[in-house]
Amino acid sequence: MMDEVTRRTLLAATATGGVLAAAGVAGAQTNQSVPQPQRPGFGGTNPGPRNLEQERQNPNLLVPPSTDHGTLPNLRFSFSDAHMRLTSGGWTRQVTARELGISKDIAGVEMRLNAGSVRELHWHKQGEWAFMLYGSARITAVDPQGNNFVDDVGVGDLWFFPGGVPHSIQGLNPDGCEFLLVFDDGDFDEDDTFLLSDWFKHTPNDVLSKNFGVPGSSFAHVPDPSELYIFASTVPGSLDSDKIAGAKPVPQTFSHRMMAQQPIKTKSGTVRITDTSVFPAAKTISAALVEVQPGGMRELHWHPNTNEWQYYIEGQARMGVFGASGQARTFDYRAGDVGYVPFAMGHYVENTGTTPLRFLEMFKSSYYADVSLNQWLSLTPPELVQAHLKVDTQTVEAFHKQKFPVVPA
Ligand code: MN
Ligand code: MN
Repeated sequence: MMDEVTRRTLLAATATGGVLAAAGVAGAQTNQSVPQPQRPGFGGTNPGPRNLEQERQNPNLLVPPSTDHGTLPNLRFSFSDAHMRLTSGGWTRQVTARELGISKDIAGVEMRLNAGSVRELHWHKQGEWAFMLYGSARITAVDPQGNNFVDDVGVGDLWFFPGGVPHSIQGLNPDGCEFLLVFDDGDFDEDDTFLLSDWFKHTPNDVLSKNFGVPGSSFAHVPDPSELYIFASTVPGSLDSDKIAGAKPVPQTFSHRMMAQQPIKTKSGTVRITDTSVFPAAKTISAALVEVQPGGMRELHWHPNTNEWQYYIEGQARMGVFGASGQARTFDYRAGDVGYVPFAMGHYVENTGTTPLRFLEMFKSSYYADVSLNQWLSLTPPELVQAHLKVDTQTVEAFHKQKFPVVPA
């Protein structure tokens, strides 16, 4: 029986290989419809098993630039490859250190709340930074000093809840919301947070009665935590109607309108930087929202303070990462993908599509910082630069003293 299966598998593989090899030869001569891992003088066709759809999406993995060399860890993971948790009120999925092993300091979660649906009142050890991707939501929180926070957020708005601060999120009309959550710990697990219903379920009834000064029977109908977490509910009234009478507001707001910030603008794109200088509450996470027009590129640079965790919002890109000691590797990204750049490694992000590219650069840091290769070289004595690169005077004079995060400038 085993022999029969093996024989048939081999026959099938040989047949498929023959067809693909023929297609590869034709492809090289007439069209690029079946990409092959080869460039002139190197590589060969791939007649064996392959996930062609995935390889088409990752041309720089299949045929790396000849400048790629050595071994770098994996720096890409797609939310499309992450497990979906479906609930009565929406869904969620996460990319953590369990999915993208290199990311020890940051984890990300995508969450969808249908209109009226609620992410249950909860808290966690980690700080939570969020970017609204779709629709609108009402968010609430209370800080340790008893100050209260309620706000409505829309596309492009942020929030930040410090570790331990209890909060909730609710989808509004007409179609709820979707958002990205970014946590300042790669081991974060969205399925492991402190839920309101969970604590009630695991506290003796007489203790609840004594704590709140009401009869124990008052809590007879608290649902099982499995029924909440993300659950369907009714859309709330106006924001004003949800304000608590007599409550003092939090001294530093937990929400921020990122799109209202004046961006850094170049001919090829824009950058909005949000850190504690403009959003003081976000003490452990800083961010840059980068837009790159077709043909443009986030310039060669690195970050002098920490690792970079990226989330791709729209368009498509490739990122080349330089890891010292001759190591360099190139990865492709699309909407919904996560990228990562280890501390201090040089990199560029190039728009490889025909539509605008938008992505977030995220850092576990109170401040944003980058070093521009172009600016560094233009602010260094030109003779010194020429002695290194053996370039002519005109070339050195073309470098920019001003920083242009997106090029061509
Ligand atoms: Mn949370
Ligand atoms: Mn960067």
